[in-house]
Amino acid sequence: MLVDTHLHLDLKDYNQDREAVIERARAAAVRYMVNIGFDLKTTRGSIALAEKYDFIYASAGLHPHEAKLWNHSFEAELEELAQHPRIVAIGETGLDYYRNLSPKGDQIRSFRGQIRMAKRLGLPLVIHNRDALDDVLSIIDEEGAGEVGGVMHCFPGDADYAREVVDRGFHVGIGGPITLEKNGRLAEVARTIPRRRLVLETDSPWLTPQPQKGKGRRRNEPAFIVSVAAAVAEATGMSYADVARQTTGNAMRLYGIKTPRPSIAYEMWGNLYLNITNRCTNECEFCIRYQTDVLWGYNLRLEREPSAKELLEAIGDPTRYGEVVFCGYGEPTVRLDVLLEVGRAVREAGGRVRVDTNGHANLIWNRNVAPELAEAADAVSVSLNAESAEVYERICKPSFGPDTYDHVKAFIRESLKAGLEVTASVVSIPEVDIEASRRVATELGAEFRVRGG
Ligand code: SF4
Ligand SMILES: [Zn+2]
Ligand SMILES: [Zn+2]
Repeated sequence: MLVDTHLHLDLKDYNQDREAVIERARAAAVRYMVNIGFDLKTTRGSIALAEKYDFIYASAGLHPHEAKLWNHSFEAELEELAQHPRIVAIGETGLDYYRNLSPKGDQIRSFRGQIRMAKRLGLPLVIHNRDALDDVLSIIDEEGAGEVGGVMHCFPGDADYAREVVDRGFHVGIGGPITLEKNGRLAEVARTIPRRRLVLETDSPWLTPQPQKGKGRRRNEPAFIVSVAAAVAEATGMSYADVARQTTGNAMRLYGIKTPRPSIAYEMWGNLYLNITNRCTNECEFCIRYQTDVLWGYNLRLEREPSAKELLEAIGDPTRYGEVVFCGYGEPTVRLDVLLEVGRAVREAGGRVRVDTNGHANLIWNRNVAPELAEAADAVSVSLNAESAEVYERICKPSFGPDTYDHVKAFIRESLKAGLEVTASVVSIPEVDIEASRRVATELGAEFRVRGG
């Protein structure tokens, strides 16, 4: 899931095929888009799109190119539009001394005026900044724009400048230009700023990423954001999935996009994941539950645990998915009865079932549940998490105490005996010896997999 934090889909460039462009963006896993206004007309156009599609939000602003239009009546009209419920930011505003299409004095007045408006309305700012690095920072400081923060889009500076921007409470917007040069300025920016401040954008219809440009695509579109995410992954060494997860969360926080309703079933990579509980008998320090409620745009924080009936309804025809996975935003075997009922039904309907588990089931139920699991699942993926009991206890803080690691190993053995396909996994974090863990898994006879940290 990705968020395109800056684009202009209301422009006439899309009049022939706007629906198709939006469809392609959704198919490319673009969860939300923020359509940016740069004068009254495009602000209205952005609002119209946001009223039509619940995954499109809008901003209200006056671009520095048009800043000569800024006066009291303009300001009043923009501020009225900015109070529309689908507006999530003020801008794009800022300074552009490269083209200087409006006099500098007008640009500065308009920029200051929009910062004050953003503060009055409590909305973040979308800042456009070209050849005006110093002036933009001074105005941010003089106007106290850090109070609302926002994003500096199409990031114009180097890593040192990015630090200044982040220190003032702003996010850094990275788009197509990062795909033009490997190991260039933007790669260093992406690599060095705090990850929570990184957001992705396309600025469609402009700034087409290199891979699409190379194929002769002149006009940019939101689906091409996947190339930006891939370039950021390459520049930072993060996995693509981590870039997607992190930047999606950042964008939602930046624009105050409300967390969606909790999901009990969600599709990813061709599989259907089931979120049946948030309870767990471990407290792993790397657990995603402690970092975010929203994963790839899905809210996984349950308000109540779903019934077997609700889960089966959400699954529908399981043969549409590679696997139906009981997964780890909590430990699924704490709800063994529901897991067994749903798993059996899915297999009867021709689906394949995997259970991602911490391997505590036999401790939780005080009996060997592997044979029952083997009726309800094809495979289990057990979080081995460590090469020894000491490391396991330190990083997972199991509620069953120091013997838990041995029980997890025993669970792996019993699962194999019951005929399940078994994978043992560890998370790649510095505390864990991956190779030693691999040896433990192999000795037990399980497959081995390293999960992202
Ligand atoms: S076992 Fe999984 S769900 Fe439980 S605390 Fe650890 S990482 Fe989180
Ligand atoms: Zn811009
Ligand atoms: Zn723009």
